[in-house]
Amino acid sequence: MITDSARSQGILSLSPFWNERTFPGVDDPKVRRAFPAAIAHVRGQLGQTYPLYIDGRDVTAGQTLDSVNPAKPDEVIGKVCQGDTAKTELALAAAERALASWRDVEPIERARYLIEAAGLARRRIFEYSAWQVLEEGKQWGQAYNDVAEGIDFLEYYAREMIRLGAPQDMGSYGSESNYCFYQPKGVAVVIAPWNFPFAISCGMCAAAIVAGNPVVYKPSSQAMVVGHHLVELFREVGLPGGVFNYVPGPGSALGDYLVDSPKVNVVAFTGSMNVGLRIIERAGRTPAGQTTVKKVVCEMGSKNAIVLDEEFDHDAAIRDVLYSAFGYQGQKCSACSRLIVLDKVYNRFVPALVEAARKLKIGPAEDPRNYLGPVIDEKAQRSILRYVELAGKEGKILYQSEVPGEGYYVPLTIVEGITPENRLAQEEVFGPVLSIMRAKDFDEAMDWANSTKFALTGGVFSSHREHLDRAVREFRVGNLYLNRGNVGALVKVQPFGGFKMSGAGTKAGGPDYLLHFMDPRCVTEQP
Ligand code: NAP
Repeated sequence: MITDSARSQGILSLSPFWNERTFPGVDDPKVRRAFPAAIAHVRGQLGQTYPLYIDGRDVTAGQTLDSVNPAKPDEVIGKVCQGDTAKTELALAAAERALASWRDVEPIERARYLIEAAGLARRRIFEYSAWQVLEEGKQWGQAYNDVAEGIDFLEYYAREMIRLGAPQDMGSYGSESNYCFYQPKGVAVVIAPWNFPFAISCGMCAAAIVAGNPVVYKPSSQAMVVGHHLVELFREVGLPGGVFNYVPGPGSALGDYLVDSPKVNVVAFTGSMNVGLRIIERAGRTPAGQTTVKKVVCEMGSKNAIVLDEEFDHDAAIRDVLYSAFGYQGQKCSACSRLIVLDKVYNRFVPALVEAARKLKIGPAEDPRNYLGPVIDEKAQRSILRYVELAGKEGKILYQSEVPGEGYYVPLTIVEGITPENRLAQEEVFGPVLSIMRAKDFDEAMDWANSTKFALTGGVFSSHREHLDRAVREFRVGNLYLNRGNVGALVKVQPFGGFKMSGAGTKAGGPDYLLHFMDPRCVTEQP
């Protein structure tokens, strides 16, 4: 809890931003001790009921939804109270009331809450990771890095708000002096996905809050218990009532209500293209009582490619392609789902990649020997299995792994012979299915790399400087990685986000991000 005396000390002296240390590896002695203990601790707390959090208070609801372990669907992680439109309205009204005072709290004061929350999350990093291992089927390292990224967002946006909170002197004109400053947009709705359940939720909520916008947060229905960690953090740091509200519930029932509300000024969404486009369309309407133009901060799906040119580091490329394609079961917006291999290197690289893939073990994420775990739920399992079937029709399956009997598993699948006309080259699968495309030369590889409606991440392995430079110009994606895998963007140093149908051009963890949550004002004074 931040004390009033600490708050009143005025200037917050912050060290320069640094990224939280990423996962030290499963063989690190501390990790070896801490992870099993944290998982056992979390297992002892499973099955609790989680209320909504509105206006600084827990609010129960008659209807609950079970969140389950995708590796053992009988294991209930938590029973989460479900919001309805009446409770959602209460949360929106609480956020609207909180706006009256929160908008004028000094940026430096708002930043303090984030720094304090980052400290709490840092102390709980193993515990929070363990919840993700069980609720989301994330491997130890994937879960740890998600929490570390959430901490980075808190630390970075706090510093960004202090930077942007200072009025900007615009110079004088004649005897008039001029300056600009930012004010918050108003009430923010945050709608989050499950695949980075702490990091993305934390990033969107922290940005809105520190910029002065009270938040109504709807977590994904597959990540409601991890989503509740934000309630813990923001409550413990003493965030004023109504500034952060947690309303879990089905997106199909609550989503439109939240987006359509005339009380809402900004919607921050990360998720699939179809839901994102629906939100953008609905937010463009102006219901009675709405007094501002709604802003939508929107990050959506992808169909990312890695291009393998000649003369790359063979072993590093195999390691990085496997990690990019199959890390967290390929359920990352940044994941590589198309591997474009140049004809000249095809016969050298592809068989070696398949051999390496055969060695990857599949099973519950809590066992660190498993490289892949289950996918998030039965619906995802069914959808991915349909793509696996399609892979056999559109191309030739080079490898399809066995899967455990219990849990929402799908086989790790590598298919070759895919060309841009195929659905597997165009549609987001969001699972461990890698489509290999054989390109005759670098020109064709670049054409194919850009041949989808998405533009999120991309990668090129090459030792040709001119090809790398060409990729920088021509491979039109939000995040391009040269001679490394295309996942794992870090806050500040690698601002993340795409364009085309991957998003509206915003960069989470970058210097422009907070500006999406604020309106600029200019003051001119005649002495
Ligand atoms: P999703 O199905 O679109 O759901 C995202 C959120 O939207 C969930 O909270 C969901 O609630 C809610 N929702 C569902 N229907 C809605 C509606 N009609 N109106 C408003 N909200 C609604 O996506 P997901 O399966 O959680 O996440 C995977 C997708 O996110 C992939 O496409 C991935 O590429 C993308 N993603 C993109 C980025 C990026 O930075 N570009 C990052 C991560 C993920 P329920 O859970 O209750 O349905």
